[in-house]
Amino acid sequence: MKIYTWVHEDKTKSKEQWKDHFSFLKEGGFDTVFLGGNIEFIKEIAPIAKEIGLEIQAWFWTLNVNNDELVQKEHPEWFNVSRLGQSSLTDPPYVDYYKWLCPSRPEVTEYITENILKILEIDSISGIHLDYVRHPDQYLPEGLLKNYDLEDIYYPEFDFCYCETCREKFLKETGIDIKSESHIEHDDDWFEFRLRSVIDLVNHISEKVREKNKKITAAVFPTPDMASIMVRQDWARWNIDGAFPMLYNKFYNEDTIWIGDSLEECIEDTNGEISISAGLYLPEMKLSDFADALKYSINSGVAGISLFPSDKITKEHLEVRKTINN
Ligand SMILES: [Zn+2]
Repeated sequence: MKIYTWVHEDKTKSKEQWKDHFSFLKEGGFDTVFLGGNIEFIKEIAPIAKEIGLEIQAWFWTLNVNNDELVQKEHPEWFNVSRLGQSSLTDPPYVDYYKWLCPSRPEVTEYITENILKILEIDSISGIHLDYVRHPDQYLPEGLLKNYDLEDIYYPEFDFCYCETCREKFLKETGIDIKSESHIEHDDDWFEFRLRSVIDLVNHISEKVREKNKKITAAVFPTPDMASIMVRQDWARWNIDGAFPMLYNKFYNEDTIWIGDSLEECIEDTNGEISISAGLYLPEMKLSDFADALKYSINSGVAGISLFPSDKITKEHLEVRKTINN
């Protein structure tokens, strides 16, 4: 079983400290790191991890684009629009950084693909790890609702994308104008249209990434069914090498056994076409729960586990993992 972790950019760390961190991971049995951060950071730090014997995939925020001021200034029309007609650029849902591009626009697909291909030119990177490749959360996990003072119901301000491109495309395909329908939000064709907008984007990226002989993986919401309903992310239909469902059980008010059950569902839904690894959330997780989460993951038959985030991994975690894996 392969062991992965998500590594955040940290400007306070020196090259020597990165070397220590990667050595700690390598000695702890890790195989691959998902290295996040801007391209300059990845260029500088990825070779250090590779030297130590780790595989590195670039961790890439796909449709959530909150740090490209040029795009925000020059292409405000690329950002998605809620059922209330508000752009996520000017009225981001939930939190300020929730600025999302609309995957229905060919220019957006090109922009994202070009950015990925630039990163893949870095020699020490073996692939791209997509994150935030979805629409904003139509429904939040049950355990997070209280943070926003929300109920588990439909809110039009969290329902995307009602931009002009989506409207025109859907009208052409079905003859239905989403703007003149009073209850389009629950329509099956409209649901499928939005799943497809993300599927088409990922599969386009995948084609280009594979032409470069690089891997493509993704961090996704738990189970394709849940992901489709919550964030329009039907990842079982993506052409990717590996999926890392984020089985953050506390967010869903679930016990660790839910992790194993969800993984079994993921494996069944993808028919062996996508390698499945369990994404585990370390903050606030007791060591005994970590041990259980590992056991349930291994018993489900997954190809790997990935721990989030790498700076929360302790020697104790590594000890627990050794006893279970052996
Ligand atoms: Zn749109």
